Amino acid sequence: MAATAPMAFLQHVCSAPLTRAIRCRSISVPSAPARATHVDSHVLLGLSEVELQQLAMDMGQQKYRGKQLHHLLYKAKAKDIQAFSHLPQAFRNDLKEAGWRVGRSPIHQSVTAADGTVKILIQLEDNRLIETVGIPVEDDKGSIRLTACVSSQVGCPLRCSFCATGKGGYSRNLQRHEIIEQVLAIEELFKHRVTNVVFMGMGEPMLNLNSVLEAHKCLNKDVQIGQRMMTISTVGVPNTIKKLASHKLQSTLAISLHAPNQKLREMIVPSAKSYPLDAIMKDCRDYFLETGRRVSFEYTLLAGVNDGVEHAVELAELLYRWGRGSHVNLIPFNPIEGSDYRRPYKKAVVAFASTLESRKITVSVRQTRGLDASAACGQLRNDFQKSPLQAAADDNATPAHGLLQNDLQKSPVLAVSGL
Ligand code: SF4
Repeated sequence: MAATAPMAFLQHVCSAPLTRAIRCRSISVPSAPARATHVDSHVLLGLSEVELQQLAMDMGQQKYRGKQLHHLLYKAKAKDIQAFSHLPQAFRNDLKEAGWRVGRSPIHQSVTAADGTVKILIQLEDNRLIETVGIPVEDDKGSIRLTACVSSQVGCPLRCSFCATGKGGYSRNLQRHEIIEQVLAIEELFKHRVTNVVFMGMGEPMLNLNSVLEAHKCLNKDVQIGQRMMTISTVGVPNTIKKLASHKLQSTLAISLHAPNQKLREMIVPSAKSYPLDAIMKDCRDYFLETGRRVSFEYTLLAGVNDGVEHAVELAELLYRWGRGSHVNLIPFNPIEGSDYRRPYKKAVVAFASTLESRKITVSVRQTRGLDASAACGQLRNDFQKSPLQAAADDNATPAHGLLQNDLQKSPVLAVSGL
């Protein structure tokens, strides 16, 4: 078995009981990303050095002021234009008068687990909360690898049956800068640069692909995180894997599979109904052919549901049918309040992994990190949203892809205010 990876809590984990999963079977996945909410035209965070130089010149400044702006945003991590102390006061005033702002948000709450994992809640401009997790891991040579697990949406419309985020409902897509700022917040908290980014926090990245791609570009070029150090995870949204492949990123695509056959998958991931397993596997094979990047498969082990040796055999056959060289990340379910799912026994995890390995499939079993920090995705935010304050009835809060509208109106996603 391969060495355990450090990101065990990165389960897109959930908590709704099985009965809820069955109820949600009618969920369908939109075939196109939501409306273009990815760039706020007066937010500095997300702009490249060239764009910042152009902005400086447009405002009557010399070009090098743009380079200074770039340093202030991405290295000094200034949160406010007033904090741009390297810049003349007149330029700062001009920026503010023209309506520019940095685009950083305050941290509402943070929780630190015994193993050093830190989960934070960031309070966005509209008072909505998103979760971000920082996971430090020390390697054999004593260097720290710091992974940021970032959210791509406020909540998630897909409602996978084991996921706390899905249970909390969906509000809106994140804009580009709202994704980037999560990484900067983790760097500040740890006083260490983020080495890896995984798009495995709240939300389905493929439903907000424009923002995710824009943020990915900025994190690579401006924050200087290598493309190979980033992973984009999805449960599968029709027509988006192909679109992602066309960008030829050198990042890893991780498919949250969770089941070896369509019937079981539909029960665990209700949205799977609109994207059959064979279609996903075909798109993954095409992704590999187009990018040369191996796809990894995430598999959350749920005791007595999908963790049997017979499931492992079926999974191996599925992966073998669609091409060799697959890698599987096994994630023992991280228990959450209100869930009927249980964590698998260690011997079941070992048997599952050995079955795959004996069929020449490489496997990692993720350590569970931060169990004591409301580790499952969406769990911390849900803790703070037990008392609803405001229904998301405005236009922004309506699911842009027309998803689950009725369900969401019955159970609106809530903004947290006055915190
Ligand atoms: S796609 Fe959404 S509901 Fe499913 S695991 Fe990820 S965050 Fe949770």
